[in-house]
Amino acid sequence: MAWVGLDDTDAPDGGCTTYVAVRLMRELERAGAEVVGRPFLVRLNPNVPFKTRGNAAVAFRVEGEVDVREVVERVLEGTVGEHPETRPGVVVYPDRRPPGACEVVYKRAVRGLVGPAEVRGLVGERVEVVRDGRGVVGAVAALGFARLRGREVTFEGIAYRDRGFWGSERRVVEDSVWELDERTFPVTFDNVDRLHGEVLITPHTPCPVLYGVRAVEAWVLEEVVPRVVRAREPVVDYVVFETNQGTDAHLRTVGSLSEASDYESVVVEVRVEGEPRRIRGGHVVVPCEDEEGNRVDLAAFAPARPLTEVVEALRPGDVVRVAGAVRPETPKHPRTINVEKLLPVELVREERSVPPVCGRCGGRMASAGRGKGFKCKRCGERAPEGSEVRVEVPRELVEGRVYEAPPVARRHLSKPEYLVDLGLLEPSPIREGG
Ligand SMILES: [Zn+2]
Repeated sequence: MAWVGLDDTDAPDGGCTTYVAVRLMRELERAGAEVVGRPFLVRLNPNVPFKTRGNAAVAFRVEGEVDVREVVERVLEGTVGEHPETRPGVVVYPDRRPPGACEVVYKRAVRGLVGPAEVRGLVGERVEVVRDGRGVVGAVAALGFARLRGREVTFEGIAYRDRGFWGSERRVVEDSVWELDERTFPVTFDNVDRLHGEVLITPHTPCPVLYGVRAVEAWVLEEVVPRVVRAREPVVDYVVFETNQGTDAHLRTVGSLSEASDYESVVVEVRVEGEPRRIRGGHVVVPCEDEEGNRVDLAAFAPARPLTEVVEALRPGDVVRVAGAVRPETPKHPRTINVEKLLPVELVREERSVPPVCGRCGGRMASAGRGKGFKCKRCGERAPEGSEVRVEVPRELVEGRVYEAPPVARRHLSKPEYLVDLGLLEPSPIREGG
């Protein structure tokens, strides 16, 4: 009985942590071990400045009389280490349930910043470190996620390419992905982006992943996806992972920005303090303040359209709850929250004056000149100065509704709000606050 955790076995020119994990699992099986349950694919804080692509770690459990460490060493020799930018971390824990310290590491690594030395200090000698790179943080965090009780999970089924195809264009039949979405949405989600007409299950990197399909239930991935998704190239392996993707695990609700660290993702309530402005590249920024008067800009980036339009529709005085990553202050800008989701709590009511309707014929009246009241355009009837009507200017936003980035721009950890509306995922932190 042992747990294996690994991270940062990505290499910039290909390779991917989940692929190394799957190779490890297969080699351990060949050596006589049995992989117990599903492997875990764990996403960590998406804002760390030194992350590898995707920032994913993997943990899995094996049973059997096998020298796990020997097999791990053998597989790692052949897959990682040749790339200087890779800082692999691989750990083995030779018992049934990883120690509680791993859970502490997970909670900190998914939300904040935690260094390898600190992690080694927290877990001590109980966890065997096989590869000592920066990835040891994710490797231990993945064990922590695996032992967490009461956690919310989603699933991802990942298909792997034959080595001869790595780096070439992926030959997934796009029609089959649209068919999959039609047949299994919303149990599978974010397969396609309807607004942008894009298939999202194929990555754009030269890694060994052919496609990855996300779901709220594992059986669809195990039974339906491999039959419906077609590819004009071989699929050499297919594995369903249990994951923290789409669960908002990275978000922490704070009362004010003084409680938030840079690079952390928070949910916080702020008041709009100025006009939104569109900047170069189609991004939109609006100045705000929290209830302590701390200044912060909200920024929505062009790929997150229509979230840019939502931020652009804000008016001074609006109170909104926002979820997103806190970026540090610069000489030119205050701290900035990169908006993932936004919920209008209280929108200001704006009024404007319009001419009255004609009392005789019901036609529209118009100003008869400065200080001269109004005159009907149809019958000539007059109305005195001061008889104009105050009407509320309709707002484009709705209080209490959550606006979010579209699938194409969604972060791995960000919970799709339509799955909450459908009762498939628990309410997100942005709805619980306030
Ligand atoms: Zn009239």
